Amino acid sequence: MSGPRLGFVLPLFLLSLTMPAPAAAQTPDAALAHARALLRSTPLIDGHNDLPWEIRRAEGHPRDVAAYDLRTRAPKHTDLERLKQGQVAAQFWSLYIDGEMKDSGYARVQLEQFDIARRMIARYPDRLALALTAADIERERRRGRLASLLGMEGGHAIENSLGALRSYYALGARYMTLTHNVTLDWADAALDSARHGGLTEFGREVVREMNRLGMLVDLSHVSPAVMSNALDVSEAPVIFSHSAARALVDHGRNVPDSILARLTGNGGLVMVTFVPQFVSNEFKAWQETADAARKKLGSTISDSAEQRRRMEDWEALHPAPSATLEQVADHIEHVRKVAGVDHVGIGSDFDGIDHVPVGLEDVSRFPDLFAELIRRGWTDADLKKLAGQNLLRVLRQAEATAARLQREREPSTKTIEQLDQGKTTS
Ligand SMILES: [Zn+2]
Repeated sequence: MSGPRLGFVLPLFLLSLTMPAPAAAQTPDAALAHARALLRSTPLIDGHNDLPWEIRRAEGHPRDVAAYDLRTRAPKHTDLERLKQGQVAAQFWSLYIDGEMKDSGYARVQLEQFDIARRMIARYPDRLALALTAADIERERRRGRLASLLGMEGGHAIENSLGALRSYYALGARYMTLTHNVTLDWADAALDSARHGGLTEFGREVVREMNRLGMLVDLSHVSPAVMSNALDVSEAPVIFSHSAARALVDHGRNVPDSILARLTGNGGLVMVTFVPQFVSNEFKAWQETADAARKKLGSTISDSAEQRRRMEDWEALHPAPSATLEQVADHIEHVRKVAGVDHVGIGSDFDGIDHVPVGLEDVSRFPDLFAELIRRGWTDADLKKLAGQNLLRVLRQAEATAARLQREREPSTKTIEQLDQGKTTS
């Protein structure tokens, strides 16, 4: 149905007596009450939150999960009280690692991020629980604990090793974003040079091995050619853990319509993100100017503290425009229109962003987004798919694919030297 629904707030016949038209009944409070009731009846699963990286770099107490106390109000967007207000049932904690660092092994930092996330989850056994499967998410929801899933952000972490990939799966990783912002030996990043024109043969083997393990292939951050190659190879549904629609904002991190259209056949989904420069054209333009100013400062001032201070001055003179909750809703509706309602989800990127859309300031605000979609006429059935049912289906399909592939073949022992010899420039 396309009209707004308020059935459980007031019986419809009463509503027709008290309200001139259903649309007029969709006051902000009524829609929010509807959203809150809906999210009590179905799990809300967010695809991307960078809290483990915030804990890693916390000022004064880096990597200290005790000092970064989630029972008190945290400095950024995420803590236990606000997760509860936001009715979040399951969270993919991003195990992001910097792709630009040169001074320490990627694998070491990746392992430290597993350690931080797992210590964080273990610290609140009454509120958080590690989840590895779709069944775990549903069980923890019944127990009233937030199902905590782990997603790696950046294939550089495997250091070109399928053995490392399998070890990360054993530590709990249930998705891996193939690249971050730096092109790898086997895959092109969206915001870096297209060195390979997509995935190399080893890159395709990474996707095949992820399918065999049951680790979701995350295509946020990769080039459109890698998206396309991964869709060719993957036998399981793929995800975009935090991206938006390129037709609305032409940013390299967003998903083109041609790829959205292929999700129907693949079964995968775009978890629409709240990152201001991906959802708002005005913000994207501002971000480009800010990036240019930062680059110019970097070329003339070497002291990073001074650079930061000067950038604060710049921002005071050039205030950022506001992205909005309504723009995020527009991207969700675009993905629904092109890919279909079975292929859309939510991937906030809270704690990974410095600016937030008006109306989506932190993890407590998810119900407001659902309220907006209710006012736009979304049915409960569609809202439940968006909230978490689509992701649960994707996880189950990936688990079934892995079970089949594990019967069919052994773990891959292929190396990048064997598969890509003479084909890459690195
Ligand atoms: Zn990211």
